[in-house]
Amino acid sequence: MALNTELAARREAAVPRGLGSSTAVYADRAEGAELWDVEGRRYIDLATGIAVVNVGHRHPRIIKAVQEQLTRFSHTAFQVAPYESYVRLAERLNAMAPFSGAAKSLFFATGAEATENAVKVARAATGRPAVIAFAGGFHGRTLFASAMTGKVAPYKRPFGMMPGGVYHVPFPTQGGATVTESLRAIDTLFAADLDPSSVAAIIIEPVQGEGGFHVAPQALLEGLRALCDTHGILLIADEIQTGFARTGRTFAIEHSGVEPDLVTVAKALGGGFPISGLIGRAQVMDAVDPGGLGGTYGGSPIGCAAALAVLDVLESERLCERAETVGQILRARLAAFAARDDLAPIGPARGLGAMIGFDVLASREGAACDPARVKAICAKALEHGVIILSCGANGEAIRLLPPLTIDEATLEEGLAGLEAALRDIVAA
Ligand code: PMP
Repeated sequence: MALNTELAARREAAVPRGLGSSTAVYADRAEGAELWDVEGRRYIDLATGIAVVNVGHRHPRIIKAVQEQLTRFSHTAFQVAPYESYVRLAERLNAMAPFSGAAKSLFFATGAEATENAVKVARAATGRPAVIAFAGGFHGRTLFASAMTGKVAPYKRPFGMMPGGVYHVPFPTQGGATVTESLRAIDTLFAADLDPSSVAAIIIEPVQGEGGFHVAPQALLEGLRALCDTHGILLIADEIQTGFARTGRTFAIEHSGVEPDLVTVAKALGGGFPISGLIGRAQVMDAVDPGGLGGTYGGSPIGCAAALAVLDVLESERLCERAETVGQILRARLAAFAARDDLAPIGPARGLGAMIGFDVLASREGAACDPARVKAICAKALEHGVIILSCGANGEAIRLLPPLTIDEATLEEGLAGLEAALRDIVAA
């Protein structure tokens, strides 16, 4: 039996079904934009472990920083014996914060912890309980993060009553709600269910990730900022998927010029090593008394070493500019694919920088999507040696998240694989 198949069988017996994997490609090693499976097959990685290795797999500077850290200590717990790298990382992120005034930062291990802690801090700072989030949004799988995630299946349905105090309103999308309708939904909430004086925060992804790569319109972000200012509500930008140059800016919210009060970060910050964080206005971040925040592995020395190296690479390799270039290549090729009759019909590319998604359509004439085709295209792309991911409320879209360090020949190879997959689907 082939090794991947054998491992899939062992996995099925040993690991619960509730943990999904979008491929059965068991990784052996990865370098830059390439990944090799246990059978020695090479893939172009246009998924980057879900927007994590923006700097590419095993970037030499990140590996070196982690190796150096390992020669000194791997863990002390910042709550027991703190270390300079944590403080330095906080200083650097505070200086990069997408809002004016003093900032403070705090670190964890996962994205869900960052969003959970954003709510804890917002509640402590405002003395209010409620949170407004968006339908289709994704904020993690721990219980409160699941409550904020705006999708019932598979994230909430089997898990019983969700923690209270979370209210969802529509996210504006092409063909869906408008900005006016989204903002009006909040007005309705304020009139019918929720006094604004009991709302601690509004949480939003500047580009919905899992939800389908829908960009939050400028007018929505401005409208939310105005609402927050009127009612003393804190605005949380969940930059876990969008952060660290992916969209062509360090943080996606910078495209809008709107200033959030709190920013959640994870994924690309660690360049493949687990670290997440919360950056916030200093006054807000200091609302919690000592002991109320933290976690054994929060801001681990390994994570901090990796993150500091990621920030260096971000600057020295000008990854924001690279993201724009990579994004332009993706958009141009997708526009050409969309115009071709011999390829499966796709909708226009959307997103920011190198965070690009597109719907797969049921027919060339209509706007209806075809999630079954998305699955088939992702599977075909794998056959052509390219790893891509789906996204969207019903899995109707494909998202492209190449490493920002990818060279143009390798990117082209990946796009040729996607093109072949789009052609196979029509031919099938
Ligand atoms: N927020 C957003 C916007 C995300 O994309 C994700 C992960 N896909 C999370 C939160 C949760 O992060 P983690 O899986 O590290 O808990």
